[in-house]
Amino acid sequence: MERKINNKNNIPKIEELLKKEKCVALVAPSFVTDFSYPSIVLQLKKLGFDKVVELTFGAKMINRDYHNLLKKSKGLIISSPCPGIVSTVNNRFPKLKNKIAKIDSPVVAMAKIYKKHFPQHKTIFLSPCDLKKPEAESCKYIDGIIDYTQLKELFYKYKIKKHNIGKRTQFDNFYNDYTKIYPLSGGLAKTAQIKKIIDDKQIKIIDGINDVIKFLENPDPKIKFLDCLFCTGGCIGGPHTNQKLTIKQKHNKVIQYLKKAKKENIPEDRKGLIDKAKGLKFNS
Ligand code: SF4
Repeated sequence: MERKINNKNNIPKIEELLKKEKCVALVAPSFVTDFSYPSIVLQLKKLGFDKVVELTFGAKMINRDYHNLLKKSKGLIISSPCPGIVSTVNNRFPKLKNKIAKIDSPVVAMAKIYKKHFPQHKTIFLSPCDLKKPEAESCKYIDGIIDYTQLKELFYKYKIKKHNIGKRTQFDNFYNDYTKIYPLSGGLAKTAQIKKIIDDKQIKIIDGINDVIKFLENPDPKIKFLDCLFCTGGCIGGPHTNQKLTIKQKHNKVIQYLKKAKKENIPEDRKGLIDKAKGLKFNS
């Protein structure tokens, strides 16, 4: 299936924001396919970002909504973090529209959380794909978006190289480790612990739009939760991720990153604690 591509050059807008405003980078955990941690934090700061945070706390918060929704629901629920899935269902399977979870994606949730704490910052999302661009552009909490290819162009333009870290550096706030597997196929179902609410046989995990379409053409009535992503392998297969690596190699990078993160000593004030999202809603 052909992807709907938004080829708009966002670079000048991002350069302008970085020059004139205090900006935060909202980093999707799929970044490890193309960049290294913690080098990425320093590279982004050299580029002009004031703060750098990951989306993993946003993922943790929307997991709670999935949990609650699936506890109550009787029929099929389709996961909604991937705009490629949402538009495919809306355009090709309008009868299933009402099955799409009305829950924010991790980036929208994270942008809401960030703006609650730091309303003066401009939020810029680093994306593995183009399909996230319309979503980001229509969200009032997100001020800009660049994909990984464009970010590499900016690093190249400003001669910002990968750093051999001499000093410890970390994301600035809102840490959460276990949701770092969100860009993998089935990452949502696993981290939201859906198996604790519904039977394993009622959960279907599919990556790759052709297989998703096959399922949607004739949905199995036994399935109560379809956790699906447009790209093969999940977001690690996004078009702006490293195409020289296999899905298995990228999958391993995410797992290694998770293992490393679990050993990190994170100060309490940098953790993604539920209280930090108090008063916010991530479902509509
Ligand atoms: S699965 Fe692909 S299209 Fe969907 S959000 Fe991830 S990278 Fe983008």
